[in-house]
Amino acid sequence: MENTPASNFLQTIITEDLASGRVREVVTRFPPEPNGYLHIGHAKSISVNFGLAEANGGRCNLRFDDTNPEKESQEYIESILEDVRWLGYTWDGEVRYASSYFQQLYDWAVYLVEKGEAYVCDLNAEQAREYRGTLTEPGRNSPYRDRSVQENLDLLARMRAGEFEEGEKVLRAKIDMASPNMNMRDPILYRIRKVPHHQTGDEWVIYPTYDFAHGQEDAIEGITHSICTLEFEDHRPLYDWFIEHLPVDSRPRQYEFGRLNPSYTITSKRKLKQLVEEGIVAGWDDPRMPTVSGMRRRGYTPAAIRKFCDMIGTTRSDGVVDVAMLEFAIREDLNENAPRAMCVLNPLKVVLTDYPEEKLESISAPCHPSREEFGQRELPFTRELYIDADDFREEANKKYKRLVLGKRVRLRNAYVIEADEVVKDGEGNIIEVRAHTIPNTLGENPEDGIRPRGVIHWVSVRAGRRAEVRLYDRLFTDEAPDKGENDFLDSINPDSLTVVEQAWIEPALADAEPEQGYQFEREGYFVADRYDHRAEHPVFNRTIGLRDTWTN
Ligand code: ATP
Ligand code: MG
Repeated sequence: MENTPASNFLQTIITEDLASGRVREVVTRFPPEPNGYLHIGHAKSISVNFGLAEANGGRCNLRFDDTNPEKESQEYIESILEDVRWLGYTWDGEVRYASSYFQQLYDWAVYLVEKGEAYVCDLNAEQAREYRGTLTEPGRNSPYRDRSVQENLDLLARMRAGEFEEGEKVLRAKIDMASPNMNMRDPILYRIRKVPHHQTGDEWVIYPTYDFAHGQEDAIEGITHSICTLEFEDHRPLYDWFIEHLPVDSRPRQYEFGRLNPSYTITSKRKLKQLVEEGIVAGWDDPRMPTVSGMRRRGYTPAAIRKFCDMIGTTRSDGVVDVAMLEFAIREDLNENAPRAMCVLNPLKVVLTDYPEEKLESISAPCHPSREEFGQRELPFTRELYIDADDFREEANKKYKRLVLGKRVRLRNAYVIEADEVVKDGEGNIIEVRAHTIPNTLGENPEDGIRPRGVIHWVSVRAGRRAEVRLYDRLFTDEAPDKGENDFLDSINPDSLTVVEQAWIEPALADAEPEQGYQFEREGYFVADRYDHRAEHPVFNRTIGLRDTWTN
């Protein structure tokens, strides 16, 4: 199942290009539009672009495709830079911006006008739609198509000078209104947009379209393999048309692969933005978001995300990937690399009646069951402990491997105890269990041969610390929340976040560094919250449970 970088169709193309000498050095780019935060799909694109460059001794640029100023912002630029770095990739040279090529792109637009291959069109949006035709019917030539070169040059200069209003005029390529490919029916090169740009301020009031900008940006940067997703396949003839008709000095080629769509996940920036704006999540980096920053805050690691991107392969077809594969990757990474700790999520007090009130024993326990280099931690053991309320029953059959009245259980890393009686409140709720320790059971089985039923986790009442624990689960209950237009909001999981205010943690956890991940034994994988965790108020987020509870 593992897909090494050397085994996908893009690598095959690159290998051939290098062998034939078409390409001497592989140069790729990751070209996000700074109109939202990066998500898991972008992580895939990053791993493909940076991964192929890396695997072939080439380079990968990071280029902001910032041709739509009204939807873009500096906040998004900064988050994208941070996310790419966090994923562990290094771009070649400086960060690049499509906007820094605006003058060159404009000069090329003038070049096309001079050659009679572009014209200024006055059709409004509705008229343009009518003239465009349909998939089954050819379009019709715009009445402005035959303007003279002189007139077009004049109008384009005046568009640029701000003499016209938005929507009044556009610059179009003169290609073929009867082409079966709608993208070739005199596509728009420039639109009037009287909005300031986050990089160029108000230097421009006309902005190039994606189609006119992208391939030329690739050519300027000497990109050899311009890798994008399948929805651009139909744009490739136009991409090539510009490259052929302009005096560019390199010949990039576009290749498409299938978008990553994990189940139970939304990967549309517009919809993710809606979740943020409607307050359904706390922000772009809410741990339930499939954004890189959300996954980071949730406790996912760069290694696990990269592993997942490799595992799913890179193919020429769109399809849904089971999100359980991503969860598998994170479990596997944390199982290997996260230190162990104990946290009681739903505390029930156990009083060890034979254990002296003032005594505090420090029990040494391994931080990881198989990695000695992780060292040992000290667990304070006292007369009063918390165990999880789910780990005690007054009566139970043998299948229940936890503490039962009159029976024994082992406290993880510590003694075997036996429960003697329960204390209840006025409503009959168990508020305390009274028990005693079985002597000489630290690391040993009971001498009388009566074995404990199982092992449960615990934390000292006196020496432990209170913590807030945020239990996150999948944000959507529907496998395909993205199938309709707006109904993705109907399948929000009402239990995607449960906040436990009174969890009890072993004391060392209070000093965890933010973003340090742990396995809380018997509970799952958790991470100290990147922003809110403090020694005085420890906060942990559940990354993922120990097992998949979504499949049965
Ligand atoms: P939009 O253009 O609608 O804002 P986008 O998701 O295409 O959204 P971009 O910032 O243009 O966002 O994407 C940057 C790169 O990431 C593009 O090359 C795009 O093809 C790629 N990409 C985006 N979403 C996915 C995905 N789900 N799987 C793989 N690659 C993706
Ligand atoms: Mg895009």
